[in-house]
Amino acid sequence: LSRLRRTEPSVRSFIHVADAAAEREAEELDRRIATEGQDAVEPLAGVLVGVKDNLCTANMPSTGGSRILDGYRPAYDATAVRRLREAGAIVVGKTNLDEFGMGSTTEGSGFQVTTNPWDDSRVPGGSSGGSASAVSARQCVVSLGSDTGGSVRQPASFCGVVGLKPTYGRVSRFGLMAYASSLDVVGCFGSSVVDTATILSVIAGHDKMDSTSSSHDVPDYKSELTPLDLLESKPLNGMRIGVIQETLGEGVETGVISSIKGAASHLEQLGSVVEEVSLPSFSLGLPAYYILASSEASSNLSRYDGIRYGRQISADDLNELYGGSRANGLGHEVKMRILMGTYALSAGYYDAYYKRAQQVRTLVKKSFREALERYDILVSPAAPSAAYKIGEKINDPLAMYAGDIMTIISVTSDVKRSAVADLKEW
Ligand code: GLN
Repeated sequence: LSRLRRTEPSVRSFIHVADAAAEREAEELDRRIATEGQDAVEPLAGVLVGVKDNLCTANMPSTGGSRILDGYRPAYDATAVRRLREAGAIVVGKTNLDEFGMGSTTEGSGFQVTTNPWDDSRVPGGSSGGSASAVSARQCVVSLGSDTGGSVRQPASFCGVVGLKPTYGRVSRFGLMAYASSLDVVGCFGSSVVDTATILSVIAGHDKMDSTSSSHDVPDYKSELTPLDLLESKPLNGMRIGVIQETLGEGVETGVISSIKGAASHLEQLGSVVEEVSLPSFSLGLPAYYILASSEASSNLSRYDGIRYGRQISADDLNELYGGSRANGLGHEVKMRILMGTYALSAGYYDAYYKRAQQVRTLVKKSFREALERYDILVSPAAPSAAYKIGEKINDPLAMYAGDIMTIISVTSDVKRSAVADLKEW
C-alpha cells in the first residue's frame, strides 16, 4: 500500500484508490490469521487486486472512464470481482481506461492520463492501461481488465507484464459495462504466468447471470504449468508452433521482430518445431472489427441517456436532456464511434457494412481454424511497436487503430453452442 501511495502521483493508474478500506481489510485478516491460523483463510487472502473501472464494484465508484457515469456507484459486484473477493482478494481500487474501452493508450479517459511505469513520457497502452501499469509498478499483485480487440494483450506488452485474454465466454461478462458484446471478455494481468493462471481459475466458469458464459469445466490452470527450468529435457518435444508471417512484415518495428524471433528460437530449443505460417485473411480483421465494434457500441451506449445513471443536467424536454447529457458526458472518440456505428446500422446500409463485416469475420475464423489444424500454437507480437510517446497518436485515429492489427485477428467467437445450451437450461 505504501508503494502504491508513493508511485501513484506519477503513474496515475487509479481513478479511485480504496487504500484505507484495503488497510482495514488487511488488518482484519491479520487478526484472523493470528487467531485461526494461516490455513483457515481463503486461498487469495490479502492479495491486492486492481479492477478496471468498467467492471462494477459494490460500494465503489464505477465510471467506465466516462464523465457520464461520474458519481455512479453500482449496487453489485461484477461476477469476476465477486469471485475474487470470495477467494479472499482485496480490491484496492479502480483502474484507469480509455472511455468505455475505446482506445489503445488510456489517453482517452475522461479523468486522467496514465503513464508507463518504465518511462513516464510514454503511454501504458490501452484500453486497460491502468490495470497494466498498476501491476507493472507493483501497486497491486494482479489486476482485472477487459479485452474487446486487444485491451489486455497490448497494454501488457507495453508495460512488460503478463496479460491473459481468455476465450470468449470463459469468464462471465456480468457486471462488465458492454462495449461490443460479441467480442468483450474479462481478462487479467500479473507479473508472471503463474499469477494469471491462478486468477483465471478463480474468475472462470459458468454464471447464470451471463447466458454466453461457457459451461465447460474449469481446470486448475496453475497445476497444468510445466516448470521450464529444464532446457535439456525438451519439454515441448512434438509440439508444432506457427509464427504468423504477416505479423513480422512491413510496418513492424525491428525490435519487435527480433524479440519474436528470439522467442521462437527459444521455443525451438525447448523441443518444438517452429515454422512461419501465412494467414491469408490477416489484413481483413481490422476493418471488420471497427465496423462490428462501433455498431455494437452505438447500440450498447444508448443506455447512457442522463436519466438512469450518472450525472444529470437540467433540461426543458427529453431531447434536450438526452442531447445535453451525452454532449457533455461523452468524449470525442466515443461520440465518433457512436456516429460510425449508427451509420453502419442504418436502414439500407446494414447489408453493406455490418452483415459484410460478419461475413469477413467468418473468413478470418476459417483461416485460423485451418492454421490450427497444422499447428498446436500460433505466435505473434501483441503490437507492431513498443510503447510510444504520450500525445504521439491521439490526434490520428487511423494510426491508432492500425496499432490493433495483431490482436484484432484472434477475437472471433464461438459462442453459439453454449448460449443454446443455456437457453435449454433456463
Ligand atoms: N483498441 C481497440 C479499440 O479501441 C480495442 C479496445 C478493447 O479491446 N477494449 O476498440
